[in-house]
Amino acid sequence: ATPVALTVATDAFAQAGLLVTRGHAIETLAHASHFVFDKTGTLTTGVLRVEEVVCAEGVEPAQALALAAALETHSEHAIARAIVVAAGSSIHAASDVEIRIGQGVAGKVAGEPHVLGRYEHVAPCAASALPLQLVFAGDRTVVYLARRGQWLAALVLGDSLRPEAAGLVAGLRDAGCGVSILSGDAAPVVAAVASVLGVADARAGLTPEGKHAALRELQASSAIVAMVGDGINDAPVLAQAHVSIAMAGGTDLARNQADIVLLNDALDRLLLGRRLARKTLAVIR
Ligand code: ADP
Ligand code: MG
Repeated sequence: ATPVALTVATDAFAQAGLLVTRGHAIETLAHASHFVFDKTGTLTTGVLRVEEVVCAEGVEPAQALALAAALETHSEHAIARAIVVAAGSSIHAASDVEIRIGQGVAGKVAGEPHVLGRYEHVAPCAASALPLQLVFAGDRTVVYLARRGQWLAALVLGDSLRPEAAGLVAGLRDAGCGVSILSGDAAPVVAAVASVLGVADARAGLTPEGKHAALRELQASSAIVAMVGDGINDAPVLAQAHVSIAMAGGTDLARNQADIVLLNDALDRLLLGRRLARKTLAVIR
């Protein structure tokens, strides 16, 4: 590829809101045949809200929020931000906090061990089965809080689809590209988003390693894969993709890993980027 054409293209990309950080990005994007998306913070705004706090016997919602927020002040996750905001000023101090990427957090609050996160993360520490009133089977994200093995609360979070997500998916499909969703979130939540967007290949409950393995599987079927993500949990899968795109509002790790950064988190710019990339290649050839 001639450097001059690529330099011009890089400027055009920047004007379109796409920051190209690696030389191969434009050429690989032009050839990409399959686009893989993370869900939370990528297809959705990632600005979550705590919509409901359901507690076990003897626990108050405000108390559960304060305990959860104590752990979450140590995390960068969108869920963490939502919980800290919902707790307001009543946040305890926590110690020995351990962040488990794609799972949740654990640590000591008021001297006692607490675990917070997805059901699969909390359940192994619990002394009993999940109380019935804490069982949720909806299409919203639910995280659980336990103290010393006792279930305390279920925190239900809502998120909104980015308004331009549907147009982007439709545009990619019209261009003949495959589309998949790889998410760490629970199956019903992922299925709801996938059905609105009309994405048939949507996989849920994936760990960062699981996302990585799923991506390799797609690559094995000879697809040139572009991965779009925002989180720490997306760093391994971004690194594995042929070309990686990070949301500007995402974590530092995702941004540093990516070949292209979507400057205003405007997802639909990807379609423009793909067209620009193909035009650039046509000029060079
Ligand atoms: P996604 O792929 O949808 O961006 P993640 O892989 O980041 O989701 O997280 C997967 C799941 O792990 C979340 O839906 C949540 O249940 C749990 N989780 C991850 N990080 C946290 C956290 N800081 N606090 C609570 N739960 C968390
Ligand atoms: Mg995410």
